[in-house]
Formats: sequence, structure tokens, C-alpha cells
Amino acid sequence: MMNIITVSQISKKYGNLLNSTKALNGVSFNIEKGDFVGIMGPSGSGKTTLLNIISSAMKPDVGEIIIDGKELTRMKENEVANFRKNHLGFIFQDFNLLESLTVEENIILPLTFSKFKKVEITKRLQYINKILGLTPLNKRRIDELSGGQKQLVACARAIINKPEVLFADEPTGSLDSKSATQLLNYLEKINTQEQTTILMATHDAFTASYCKRIIFIKDGKIFAKINTNGDRKEFFEKIINMQRTIGGGDFFNA
Ligand code: ADP
Repeated sequence: MMNIITVSQISKKYGNLLNSTKALNGVSFNIEKGDFVGIMGPSGSGKTTLLNIISSAMKPDVGEIIIDGKELTRMKENEVANFRKNHLGFIFQDFNLLESLTVEENIILPLTFSKFKKVEITKRLQYINKILGLTPLNKRRIDELSGGQKQLVACARAIINKPEVLFADEPTGSLDSKSATQLLNYLEKINTQEQTTILMATHDAFTASYCKRIIFIKDGKIFAKINTNGDRKEFFEKIINMQRTIGGGDFFNA
């Protein structure tokens, strides 16, 4: 299998010389095309920082990120912006939706900046709507939706341009269990059917059990890696056990 992401010796500090926090301390791993990787760890362990650095929203102090053969850490800002637009998708906690637009307008936003034909846009919109059950909401404005519905719209928008890598930070964070399961089934579907590589940070063992493997981090370092054997229930147990081993207890829910 081909490596799509190489994370090499990443370190990141926040703050200044007198008062600094080491958020990441020499993190390295590879991700293959079509992988579905979970990032777990207690609150404050560095998950969000890691996701932001890999997705090139933030630069590391030290280390390299290579995605699809491109060294993002060395690219100019406008090159990074272009790369993100064409190759990466994001489902982040704060949704980043445009409140004054409709659901449909938000979902197709990433395509309207590209050279897609109207027919193709409509086709993709219908496909995504069908899978996520969003059709009845299409003409509503974002400020008329619940938190869970917003998260599904954010998901639809993240995947409409068929990104090679999809980044998700607590994607089920504000979803009820039915919507969460629906979203996870969809992520699994695009992972298996479209070979979309997914990197997802979560504190939730059920959500994480949809991954193929999990990288646990603690205090900015890799603590452990575990793989599924294909049985979700068994993997869930394995994840819970690792959460106990790593400690942090309630911090997982913070
Ligand atoms: P997680 O996502 O696992 O909760 P984060 O990556 O958000 O962890 O944070 C890792 C560490 O870096 C924590 O100690 C946190 O307090 C610190 N940190 C995160 N963001 C900032 C920031 N903008 N300024 C200062 N410290 C930060």
C-alpha cells in the first residue's frame, strides 16, 4: 500500500520562552491510502494540535508533513491554500458554516470555486443528500438547524469535492446517537467505496470503533497504536481498555 501521509518528528510549543507548553514532542507515523485512523488521548494530550498541523492549518516548530508526495511544511501559503482546497476535506467542531446561506448553498460551496459543471454539482449534491438524509433540509437556512443537523451539513460540505484525505475533529461531538451512527456509517462507506483516507480525532470509544486503527497520544507523544481485526465490538473493548491504561479517566470526556 502507498503512504499518503508521512508525519515525521513533529514538535510544537505554545507560548513564549518564559511560559511555554510543549503540545507535541517528536511525533512520527505513516498513513496509507484508504486508511481510517483515529487519534485518541486524554484532553490536552495534543490531538487538535496534531490534526491542525497535519492538515496544514498550523506549522510545526520542528518536523515534516508530506501528503501525497508534497511537503506541506515547506510550501508557500497560497500553495498550501490551493492544496487544501483541492485535496483535503474538513469536518471540524465549530462547523464553519455560513449562517445566512441555505443548507444546499453551504454544501456546494467548495464546488462553486472550482471548474465544476452545474450538472455535476447537482449530481453530487443528490448523491450526498440521499446518503445523509439531508434532502428535506436543503432549502433551510443554517440558523434554522439543530447542532446535529449542522454537523451533517458540515460533513456533506467536507466530502462533496471527494477529498483524498478527510480530517475530522470530534465529528460526532454534538450528534444524538442515531445521527452519529448515520454519519459514521457514511464515513465508513466513503472510506471503503471511494478509498478516502480519513484521520479523525475523538474521545469517544464508539466513534473510534469505526476506525481501522487508532494512535493514542499522551503528553504530546505516541503512547500506543492498536488495529481492528474487523470486529467492531471487540475493537470497542480494546479501545476502552487502552483508555484505562493510558489514564486520564474523566478527562476523556472533557
Ligand atoms: P487535545 O486536542 O488533545 O485536547 P490540544 O492539542 O488542544 O489537545 O492541546 C495540547 C496542549 O497545548 C494543551 O496543554 C493545551 O493547553 C495547549 N494549547 C493548545 N492550544 C493552545 C494555544 N493556542 N495556546 C497555548 N496553549 C495551547
